[in-house]
Amino acid sequence: MYRDILVIGAGVLGLSSALHLKRLNPDRKVLVIDKFGGPGQGNTAKSAGIFLNLFTTEINYLLSDSTIDWFFHLQNELGYNLSLRRCGYLYLLNEARYRRLKAPISKMRKKGIELRTFGKEDLKRMIPDLVTDFGEEETELMGLEPVEAGILGVKCGSVDTDALARSLEAEFLKLGGEVSYRITATRLIIRPERELGVPGEPFVWQDIRVAGAETSKGEILAGTTVVAAGVWSERLLDPIGFDALMRPKKRVIFVFKHSRLRRLRDARGFSEHNILPFTHIPEISVYMKADPAEGSIWLGCADDFGRGYGLEDDPQPEGELYSNNIYHALVRFLPCFENVRPVNMWAGQRAINRYDRIPVVAPAPGMIYVGSATGYGITKCDALGRTVAALDAGEKGVELFGGRRLKAADLGIETRNVGKEVFKV
Ligand SMILES: Cc1cc2nc3c(=O)[nH]c(=O)nc-3n(C[C@H](O)[C@H](O)[C@H](O)COP(=O)(O)OP(=O)(O)OC[C@H]3O[C@@H](n4cnc5c(N)ncnc54)[C@H](O)[C@@H]3O)c2cc1C
Repeated sequence: MYRDILVIGAGVLGLSSALHLKRLNPDRKVLVIDKFGGPGQGNTAKSAGIFLNLFTTEINYLLSDSTIDWFFHLQNELGYNLSLRRCGYLYLLNEARYRRLKAPISKMRKKGIELRTFGKEDLKRMIPDLVTDFGEEETELMGLEPVEAGILGVKCGSVDTDALARSLEAEFLKLGGEVSYRITATRLIIRPERELGVPGEPFVWQDIRVAGAETSKGEILAGTTVVAAGVWSERLLDPIGFDALMRPKKRVIFVFKHSRLRRLRDARGFSEHNILPFTHIPEISVYMKADPAEGSIWLGCADDFGRGYGLEDDPQPEGELYSNNIYHALVRFLPCFENVRPVNMWAGQRAINRYDRIPVVAPAPGMIYVGSATGYGITKCDALGRTVAALDAGEKGVELFGGRRLKAADLGIETRNVGKEVFKV
């Protein structure tokens, strides 16, 4: 089988790439394959579905801010119900962190990122369940510092990632794209640029390129192969010696549904939605998302340091991470969690860029890799898909949704020019 473009992976990054590849090349045949049975069933389905534009590097800001605009276009103009909620992203910071982050915060403000600041008294009023003064036990024994200030990113919020993946697939299919599920790419095919048709090819002295993939349903040859296989990309890329700067790392999410959490979930005054914004307490490596439709609170653990790398096909959540670990500190900040147990939990894997934590879109002969999004693949998916399409078209510049531009090569590996993210909580 031959296709002009083969995309391996139907997560948000593969589908977004496929959509923009087809949009720029309506006459070329673009096929997306995935080992799962439908769109967005890999780590896209495991994500918390948060979008945010809180970055100090221009590239991260452009990737995220333009993707957020695209989400609202998909919902408001193209009619997909993505359950978008601009509920905000709130960092609850202790005094030292707040002081340290003042410079990055002012850098973000200068870019035009809308941020609101809340003092302790505001927070006490708006989140009555939050404890902001600690006794000796918390500070001396546990080493916890109370919250001093809150910083809210106003343009941030949440998206239904299943609806997002389906909408990208639908737009791609509308343009005449093809998707095929339950097909696993087992290896990338390497062929010489100029085939001689003799046994033993490719020889080391020949120029080679990726010419498609061997799959569970036979060979698929392609002019361009886009590897958008998320954390599994290393299985395809390692054998051909392509380093995507990526390592998989597990992340766990717990879901709570309890009447005692209602007041926290329905915190008023942060946005028109009158729910708790997506709330991150870096002091205890915890973040929370209110889900008014389910009446629940999701809680994720940002345990980056100390958590090992390693690809897992079916990562399992560790219940004791909540009960024997997070819980003890969480109840000091939010006593409403006392004796409340999760009703659900799951684990996924994030594709961590081990070098600079900024996504990679990198070409190699016959191939483009997109990924290493380091836990922000949802929030940057549209701009990354547009970058793939621009690279395939041989364009240097990428026109993002809304007309802003970035340089495609900046997200590459050898040509990398992304700067350093300094807003680190
Ligand atoms: C717990 C958790 C919470 C997160 N929260 C957020 C968040 O709030 N906001 C945010 O922006 N990001 C978040 N992320 C990150 C986000 O989920 C990812 O960045 C994003 O989903 C990456 O999309 P993707 O398309 O690269 O990967 P995936 O969605 O994993 O897609 C890759 C696809 O490739 C397929 N595939 C792999 N190998 C093969 C093969 N050999 N053959 C065929 N198909 C193959 C897989 O089946 C899969 O469907 C979170 C991640 C986790 C784990």
